[in-house]
Amino acid sequence: MILDFKEIPAANGNDGLQDTFELFTRDLLQYLGYRIIENPDRGADGKRDLIVEEIVRGIHSEYTIRWLVSCKHYAHSGKAVKDDDEINIRERIEQHKCDGFMGVYSTLPATSLAGILKGVKNHIVYDHERIESLLLRDAEGQRIAARYFAESYRNFQIENPVPAQIFADNSPIICEVCGRNLLDGESQGIFVSLKPFIEPDVDSHGTDRQIKEIHFVCKGECDNTLKESWRGLYYDSWGELDDLKNPTIWISTFIGFINGIHHNQDLSNEAFNAMKQMFIRTYPYVARHLTSHEKERVKQLIRFGLL
Ligand SMILES: [Zn+2]
Repeated sequence: MILDFKEIPAANGNDGLQDTFELFTRDLLQYLGYRIIENPDRGADGKRDLIVEEIVRGIHSEYTIRWLVSCKHYAHSGKAVKDDDEINIRERIEQHKCDGFMGVYSTLPATSLAGILKGVKNHIVYDHERIESLLLRDAEGQRIAARYFAESYRNFQIENPVPAQIFADNSPIICEVCGRNLLDGESQGIFVSLKPFIEPDVDSHGTDRQIKEIHFVCKGECDNTLKESWRGLYYDSWGELDDLKNPTIWISTFIGFINGIHHNQDLSNEAFNAMKQMFIRTYPYVARHLTSHEKERVKQLIRFGLL
């Protein structure tokens, strides 16, 4: 589990935070597209259910399912929700004029409860695992996760970095052969640098020669296709584009590039510009978001023509 539900205060606390899991449930269900109808009053036993509506749209008609929602926050004890934690489900549905039963649990439903739910016509359970995967799937869900699971979400962000917003638009690096974005995280892209091949000077491996061209392609098939076009004409060397999303490798490659130029590594204009673009386009992956203060400074420098 990525989200630690114990970050949400226990339901039996006396610090005024005992309702946090109910508030969280409201936010979660609203995010999922349910309409919050009412918060029934807290009963004598302190139990409070929620009622939400789901609008189901068909081709030419729509209807509403009214759900009775039961929140159970047992994360602190770690216990599953048992059948005797949810008594009289059918009577409760009827009493609140609902069409179905929904459990929102910070643990899991026990087998005993799952058996009873099978007998209820409309039922759905959002347990901790399901809630987690729903929240982490997009930015809006992650905003809720950040609010209720501050520490878990901070750790999640460290392990799942997203490109920083540095430029108005983060530009892709496109495979020359198939047109895929090599920075999308799925394609394995490489950059290939080409130096002219001159027989019989094989041993120098072209270290003294100009880098004529830089190419960006997928590893494997696309690379092989492109290779056919320069076979016998150029030496090639290559690096992984994904490595340039690693801050340590990015700076080391960048410094290597600068050192090369300092040591008179000659590049064609075309190759030099391609390298520059590669560093610019991979930079958001190794940089952090700008603070609002930094954004202002950038705007100022642009206004003065200094950036
Ligand atoms: Zn490709």
